[in-house]
Amino acid sequence: MKELTCIVCPRGCRLTIDDDLKVTGNSCPRGAEYAVNEMTNPKRMITSFMRVKNRENCVVSVKTSTSIPKRMIFQVMEEINKVGVNAPTNIGDIAIKNVLGTGADIVITKNVK
Ligand code: SF4
Repeated sequence: MKELTCIVCPRGCRLTIDDDLKVTGNSCPRGAEYAVNEMTNPKRMITSFMRVKNRENCVVSVKTSTSIPKRMIFQVMEEINKVGVNAPTNIGDIAIKNVLGTGADIVITKNVK
């Protein structure tokens, strides 16, 4: 049995999930889905910075377009650090499409002229 706090909405229900993946404490079905996913395939959004290759000492903020498996966070961070982008960049540009086959894109969140 494990206790979790649901982070799907601001209400923050206290959840309990047992070894058979039975969830209690959730006020809606999304909480149960969150708890089961946390136990079987936890996922996280990533926010980070990416090097701007054609500007000196310049980075641009990026994020994943959707959550990725928690176990792949370090590999995705390595990919973000390895690739870099060229300016100009615009918010919403895709720096890496389907990063490492996760289904998530790395999206730029800052304009750089
Ligand atoms: S269980 Fe439902 S109501 Fe409760 S925090 Fe999660 S999403 Fe919000």
